[in-house]
Amino acid sequence: MNTKEKKVWFVTGSQNLYGEEALRQVSENSRVIVEELEATLNCSAELIHRPIVTTPDEIYKTCIEANADDSCIGLVTWMHTFSPAKMWISGLVSLKKPICHLHTQFNRDIPWSDIDMDFMNLNQSAHGGREYGHILTRLRKSREVIVGHWKDAAVQSKLGDWMGVAAGWQEMRQMKVVRFGDNMRYVAVTDGDKVEAERVFGMQVNTHGVGDLVAVVNQMSDADVDVLCQEYCDAYDVVPELLKDGERHDSLRTAARIELGIKQFLEDGGYGAFTDTFEDLHGLSQLPGIASQRLMAAGYGFGPEGDWKHAALLRAMKVIQGNKPGGTSFMEDYTYHFDPSGARCLGAHMLEICPSIASAKPKCEIHPLGIGGKDDPVRLVFDGATGPAINASLVDLGNRFRLLVNKVESVAMPEPMPKLPVARVLWDAKPDLQTAAAAWIYAGGAHHTSYSLSVTAEQMEAFAEMADVEFVLIDESTNLRQLKQDLRVGETYYGLRGL
Ligand code: MN
Repeated sequence: MNTKEKKVWFVTGSQNLYGEEALRQVSENSRVIVEELEATLNCSAELIHRPIVTTPDEIYKTCIEANADDSCIGLVTWMHTFSPAKMWISGLVSLKKPICHLHTQFNRDIPWSDIDMDFMNLNQSAHGGREYGHILTRLRKSREVIVGHWKDAAVQSKLGDWMGVAAGWQEMRQMKVVRFGDNMRYVAVTDGDKVEAERVFGMQVNTHGVGDLVAVVNQMSDADVDVLCQEYCDAYDVVPELLKDGERHDSLRTAARIELGIKQFLEDGGYGAFTDTFEDLHGLSQLPGIASQRLMAAGYGFGPEGDWKHAALLRAMKVIQGNKPGGTSFMEDYTYHFDPSGARCLGAHMLEICPSIASAKPKCEIHPLGIGGKDDPVRLVFDGATGPAINASLVDLGNRFRLLVNKVESVAMPEPMPKLPVARVLWDAKPDLQTAAAAWIYAGGAHHTSYSLSVTAEQMEAFAEMADVEFVLIDESTNLRQLKQDLRVGETYYGLRGL
């Protein structure tokens, strides 16, 4: 998950009107800003200082170079002075990378007793940034606007978050998703238009018969299986029946072999995400449980039942998260607790919840699955960590994709659930579960989501804007009448806009 090769270019705009000395100062100030931001930003991408731009030609060349450079994931642009925005048209029209407009100025305060016209000429962000913003709006370029002094913690936090999103977007653009088997029969929301998904998001989604995977699984060596079983014992509380002398140790070995095989397949094909389905496991004796869980924890995207959209979204969100604390997992709204004193939703899946969201050391257990008619799968069982989180869902509405996000608050389990053999999370949705679930259903959200204790709703909004897809947020201020109206507006806007 090393994303340090991902670079964000810091581009400072100016013009030649002010003379060499002023431009030297502009350049020096922007270098100081980048140096300090790079040292303080909590972000896995790197901020790079670029030479200042003062002519249409320099701007155009910078944008073309950014397009061609794979390591460049986006541009932070800052107008230190006035930079007449017609100079920016040809560059911005050509630019394919995300833009963040940092509307800041070098000095925090006005130097009341010393301020003169030289100072005024050098520090013109207040109107230079507006001239630049106008042309972005005129060109219908989506971008992030961050306002405030660059040393301000809130500004730095927003900037670091945006850089994480740009890294996730770059990942989505070049992602390869492999599906082992097709979609769960008759399920609507996990299906969709993979051609359109590649046009909009860049990700390639292709299917292999599960037999192709089985061939790789069967090649895994006994020695590697031994090592992985030991790793399970070191990392988790493994139940006695699965231990070396236990009567079901062979099941643990099978699970380890499946994990090794999937990992090998993903590495060989350069895949960032994968799906499987319990309806197509020919030659695999267990539905991958611990394998899917651990591969998610290693950074891969995953979707069960053929759900390629959430597999891709999960991988992108893991890149957006970068090195920040808190986990990100595949999730499903499973069952409700309609307590009049506060309704809750229990999130879980048949097996596949990522241990990055665990509150404590997971248990490694084996139980029957109940459906699919295969051998009992090995899985990790744990309660999810508590705290503010989001559920994000990507759906295909036929004429467009919609990214839907609900803010939730994950809470402690009120009681132990000794008979529930899967990982689980309990949350209270914003603004309340009844309103949130109704809003989610009106918006056509999936029963599958990517759940994160780290990535924020604001980051997902920025992600939707980079992808240029509809974004719908359900949060503290959601009311159903307004939400339905917003959905109608979206229908009209995207209907009118076409491709
Ligand atoms: Mn499911």
